[in-house]
Amino acid sequence: GTISLASCLAETATRHPDRRALIFMGTTTTYGELWAQTRAYAGALRARGIGRGSRVALIVPNVPDFARVFYAVISLGAIAVPIHLLFKAEEIEYVLRDAGADLVVVAAPMLGEAAPAAAAAGVPLVTVLLPNDPGMPDLPRLEAEASVAEPIERHVAVHPTDAATILYTSGTTGFPKGAVGSHLAAVEQVHCSLIDSFDLRADDVVFGGLPLFHAFGQMAVMNMAFRVGAAIILLPKFDPQQALDLLLEYEATAFTAVPTMFVGMIEAASHTDRRPPLRFAVSGGAALPVAVLEAFKATFGADVHEGYGLTETAPTVSSNTLHEPIRPGTVGRSLWGVDVAIADPEVEGRIELLAEPGALGEVVVRGHNLFKGYLGRPEASEAAVVDGWFRTGDLGTLVDGVITIVDRKKDMIVRNGYNVYPSEVEAVLARHPKVAISAVFGLADDVHGQEVHAAVIAKEGQDLDADELVAFAKERIAAYKYPRVVHVVDQLPIGASGKVLKRTLVEQFTAVRG
Ligand code: ATP
Repeated sequence: GTISLASCLAETATRHPDRRALIFMGTTTTYGELWAQTRAYAGALRARGIGRGSRVALIVPNVPDFARVFYAVISLGAIAVPIHLLFKAEEIEYVLRDAGADLVVVAAPMLGEAAPAAAAAGVPLVTVLLPNDPGMPDLPRLEAEASVAEPIERHVAVHPTDAATILYTSGTTGFPKGAVGSHLAAVEQVHCSLIDSFDLRADDVVFGGLPLFHAFGQMAVMNMAFRVGAAIILLPKFDPQQALDLLLEYEATAFTAVPTMFVGMIEAASHTDRRPPLRFAVSGGAALPVAVLEAFKATFGADVHEGYGLTETAPTVSSNTLHEPIRPGTVGRSLWGVDVAIADPEVEGRIELLAEPGALGEVVVRGHNLFKGYLGRPEASEAAVVDGWFRTGDLGTLVDGVITIVDRKKDMIVRNGYNVYPSEVEAVLARHPKVAISAVFGLADDVHGQEVHAAVIAKEGQDLDADELVAFAKERIAAYKYPRVVHVVDQLPIGASGKVLKRTLVEQFTAVRG
């Protein structure tokens, strides 16, 4: 036996060959078909010399080929390096070089940025097509190569601690670092944590709008569904109305998303009385305001289980689960086999745990789910994992095993020497009946050091008055915390993973003020 992540798909294909694996643009792929296609792609990759330890980058949106290519790579014992879909040529080139990619697989619409990057990095490129896409006739196509290659029979045996993925994350420093994840971390997370927490079953129908290149969608949607034989509704670009239509049409039972998607779904649902038969919802990736959790429950009748995690932790650290009543505003208990503690954020080079219940400090994590380190960056890896504890860079508390995330260390605003945590202010603004979503950030200020700003989007058809919102917040939180400046905006900068990009906001508004 082997503990390869590839078993998630291989064994399910044997057990549930006729169940739906992927639903995309009105067509369905069964587990039997998906595994056969994956073995064919793996045959083509093998013919190109890809094998155990090779690194294969992929730039593919949420279409069936993402799963086929990803699992073809993993099945060969090679390492999958999914690249962020918004990366431009220079960023792609950086990742290809940094990861030492042996090959890059690119969906035709991404060729504009990817082709020059691959050429510059000297990495061979092969394309996959999307439906109705002619592609570029002079570039090699993986499907054509698969039709003449011998498919692999079964997945290659690996050592449990072998690398399965390299996922790029920017963390606190500017340049993305490649977090190396093992087969063991992924499989342990899927089996012991995610399935245990949510009791996912073969008859579940899971929303697949989270990007699969990112750890959250890859693990909590794709790998978890594959392991049990559930169906995934793939959506390449999140649009709330389209998402709701798909959830209704395919009778989705599980909705896993980031908070901005929850906000969109609540608004889309105001146009219809029809509701999908959701059994549960999971939020992660950023803080979910309690007001949004409550509005979703009121609209869809499903509890929202907020969880917490990072790319480096495979990714889930903790979650509210189906096994006990949810605790809104918290991220639940650490998952099975994962240890969490609170450490003094100021102490460097060693971990000084804060034992007092409720003490505010840096969340640190221990367990099989931890990454193997940042590729080629021993100093960064040593700084991140101290005495077996991974420093998350997030501030939080732990009371009776229940974790509350206060905010990222780097997003904390210091106004007149007082600490302001943006997510606390955002949670207050979310309670205003006209607010759809807000993002709170600090801008440099000559008088106060930093000033608290909020960028806010109004609910559909509502007029938001900036002064009214300032007053609303002022009534509800301490004088040093409420936003002195509210910017009513039509749009927030949102990354491909669905999170609000705070750094971009700070840059935008700093530039506006000159
Ligand atoms: P990038 O590397 O692309 O900049 P990132 O820094 O957001 O992205 P990820 O690994 O995607 O990296 O996200 C991890 C971070 O997301 C955590 O460190 C934490 O700050 C935030 N996060 C995740 N879940 C929650 C949650 N439930 N509440 C608050 N913050 C969360």
